[in-house]
Amino acid sequence: MRVGIAGCAGRMGQMLLKMLSQAPGVLVVGGTERRGSPALGMDLGALAGTEPFGITVGDDPALLFDSADVVIDFTNPAATALHAGFAAKNGTAHVIGTTGLDNDQQAAVARAAQKAPIVMAANMSLGVNLLEQVIEQMARILDTDWDIEIVEMHHRHKVDAPSGTALILGEAAARGRGTTLRRVAKRGRDGQTGPRAKGEIGFAALRGGDVVGDHTVIFAVDGERVEVTHKASSREIFARGAVKAVLWAAGKTPGLYTMKDVLGFSVGAPAAGNS
Ligand code: NAD
Repeated sequence: MRVGIAGCAGRMGQMLLKMLSQAPGVLVVGGTERRGSPALGMDLGALAGTEPFGITVGDDPALLFDSADVVIDFTNPAATALHAGFAAKNGTAHVIGTTGLDNDQQAAVARAAQKAPIVMAANMSLGVNLLEQVIEQMARILDTDWDIEIVEMHHRHKVDAPSGTALILGEAAARGRGTTLRRVAKRGRDGQTGPRAKGEIGFAALRGGDVVGDHTVIFAVDGERVEVTHKASSREIFARGAVKAVLWAAGKTPGLYTMKDVLGFSVGAPAAGNS
């Protein structure tokens, strides 16, 4: 399977480069970076910390999507929306980990998914995908007397807030309550906010240090509180999920898929072969 890596010099890109170069049946055929990146022209092996690949970092996504069966993309929203167009043009599978896409960029990805298989997940870890289902069930069971608040913390370099994962967990809670997050989200509070509205789902985003990603969903009612937390201590959990998605996506029919399709589990059913 020929795999290309968009954003190959990024934090996730470098880790993926290393993991994919060691994955059985995978041939890394290229990596791209943004125009002006100091990584352009470097051998991919230098970024992966391995032997030279004999392939250098380029800046042409058309070429990358043309030469690969699957492209993995942890870049930025504008680049990812552009890349989805190349996936559609070539029918190349596209695995998207980038977060923070706006509505137009999401729509561009959805359009591309009519022509190419696209796996998109704001969090590719097994733990968070499991948590999402648990939160949906908890929200279904607990009525709106229970206030739902989501607190997340990430490293100081993160550019979007609340995190894509916090929003996924919020959507799961909203689904459990038979509504949409758009209707009930309260994103950040400051000043004279007035009392909390019943049924709203609140978000708080903290930034600092090198925190890989912490998420806590709080269900609070008079007299008791249930808190469910996921803590990522290594980016490897995302990269492992992303590699699974790459292996899964190749040769699939066009469509927009999630990590739940890749991992093939749902709460109540045993997980098959997940680690
Ligand atoms: P990063 O800034 O370290 O890496 C992004 C890389 O993309 C950079 O090297 C940048 O130069 C490159 N890039 C920018 N524009 C490009 C273009 N047009 N073509 C090719 N490369 C381009 O960031 P990161 O920590 O690796 O995260 C990247 C994205 O992935 C963010 O949106 C982040 O929120 C998301 N993320 C998702 C998950 C998940 O599980 N889905 C996990 C971690 C991070």
